Amino acid sequence: MNPNIDTSRRPLVLIWELTRACDLACEHCRADARPNRHPDELTTAEGKRLLRQAREFGEGQLVVLSGGDPLKRDDVVDLVDYGTERGLRMTITPSGTDSLTPDRIDALARAGIRRMALSVDGAIAAAHDAFRGETGSFAQTLRAARDARAAGVPIQINTTVCAETVDELPGIRDLVEDLGAVLWSVFFLVPVGRGRVLEPISPERSERVMEWLADASAEAPFGVKTTEAPHYRRVVLQRRADEGIRRRGGITAGDGFAFVSHTGEVYPSGFLPASAGNVRETSVVDAYRDSELFRSLRDPDALRGKCGVCPCRRVCGGSRSRAYATAGDPLASDPLCPYVPDGYDGPLPRRADEGGLRVPE
Ligand code: SF4
Ligand code: SF4
Repeated sequence: MNPNIDTSRRPLVLIWELTRACDLACEHCRADARPNRHPDELTTAEGKRLLRQAREFGEGQLVVLSGGDPLKRDDVVDLVDYGTERGLRMTITPSGTDSLTPDRIDALARAGIRRMALSVDGAIAAAHDAFRGETGSFAQTLRAARDARAAGVPIQINTTVCAETVDELPGIRDLVEDLGAVLWSVFFLVPVGRGRVLEPISPERSERVMEWLADASAEAPFGVKTTEAPHYRRVVLQRRADEGIRRRGGITAGDGFAFVSHTGEVYPSGFLPASAGNVRETSVVDAYRDSELFRSLRDPDALRGKCGVCPCRRVCGGSRSRAYATAGDPLASDPLCPYVPDGYDGPLPRRADEGGLRVPE
């Protein structure tokens, strides 16, 4: 995390879900992706206005073009070029499909794309393709990763951690190294969208996975970051007891992180679909800085349950997305964390691996 950025004023990461269209149909898709574009997607002109607003956060604002598959929009290279020209750092998370050709990767590189993130959810083709529901996706993803490197575009690998993938992690770690990725982003499942079909790992298993990740990250030639698992920071800090728990160490939904949906809704994250306004009527800057929702998510003292009294709440705070998905309240406790603060005798969150899912469909 860049300590010079005041996350109450500016997100480190602004994700724009360009479209929900995607040629894949992963069973677990957060975006509930479908083959065709939604008629109410932000237009090219509305998207460019959003990019101008993003620039108001400051020079070098990071923008992630996400989906669905952002390559399903034929203005994607134009949008990368437009953002780059205006001083934004534009990155992209395309789906591993045939449409990710070397020509398109070259066009994105020429338009100034700074990084390409690709999903790998198995260490071998059979495991990844079964998870993605598409034979050939693993081979296409690896080919795209190599093409991106050849075009001079740094790559990031994203992996979902759930019961179906957790045993693949050591093999994926080796693959991330072989591919020469700069970052491995490990996402701890939040059961939203079609992600409800997957099985979360238990809090105890997640603790062991985080211990393993802390070891892996110490030795790896690439960065390791967790998503929707801020208690990873507690695990790391508990291992380094001499460092103490002094400050917030990362970004979480609404605090350093914001998401604009394909129809323009501003959410704290793609996994926390509560809206702070629509960019057709509100500036993303105002929604991020001043909405009650975003402000409450940045206030560790507003948290409820065991997270609200936890001595780690300023460095961790729990996954607000998982709290929302399981309790319907973004300020409730995170059920993935097994830690119970000393002296806390209030109610404990219902564990997601035991069916604690209460958000309406
Ligand atoms: S590739 Fe991504 S956007 Fe497409 S269906 Fe799978 S999870 Fe959803
Ligand atoms: S109880 Fe909440 S704030 Fe404390 S470590 Fe667990 S998730 Fe983080």
